[in-house]
Amino acid sequence: MRLQGDPDHGPNPCVAPILKPPFFAVEVVPGSFGTFAGLTTDGRARVLDGTGTPIPGLWAAGTDSASVFGGHYPAGGINLGPALTFGFIAGRDAAEGLQ
Ligand SMILES: Cc1cc2nc3c(=O)[nH]c(=O)nc-3n(C[C@H](O)[C@H](O)[C@H](O)COP(=O)(O)OP(=O)(O)OC[C@H]3O[C@@H](n4cnc5c(N)ncnc54)[C@H](O)[C@@H]3O)c2cc1C
Repeated sequence: MRLQGDPDHGPNPCVAPILKPPFFAVEVVPGSFGTFAGLTTDGRARVLDGTGTPIPGLWAAGTDSASVFGGHYPAGGINLGPALTFGFIAGRDAAEGLQ
């Protein structure tokens, strides 16, 4: 992973010798901030059944829905961006009584 490193440092922009004190340490623990699994939805956040047909009155967004990026992680924001976008669409359509 070479994301968010120092582009002026090489050969790896994210790794360098730790030479100059003072030194500080933080505990790092593994976690998860998203999943590529979830309910299959269409462009209007409607949940699709096994045949690809929208289930009336059922929408999903955020971690409940499958990622629109299909297993790829192009950049930060791929979770919150679609969650907000499709949450908005689902809320708007539900408020308007659309199915
Ligand atoms: C450390 C960290 C960093 C992140 N950084 C980024 C980032 O930089 N960019 C990005 O795009 N995404 C990031 N994410 C991911 C993003 O925050 C999540 O994908 C997003 O918040 C998911 O939103 P959501 O509404 O689907 O689910 P959540 O935000 O998890 O909301 C679900 C809600 O449902 C509630 N709930 C659960 N069960 C019940 C129940 N039975 N009854 C009632 N309420 C219930 C929970 O308490 C929670 O409030 C990060 C996540 C983490 C943890």
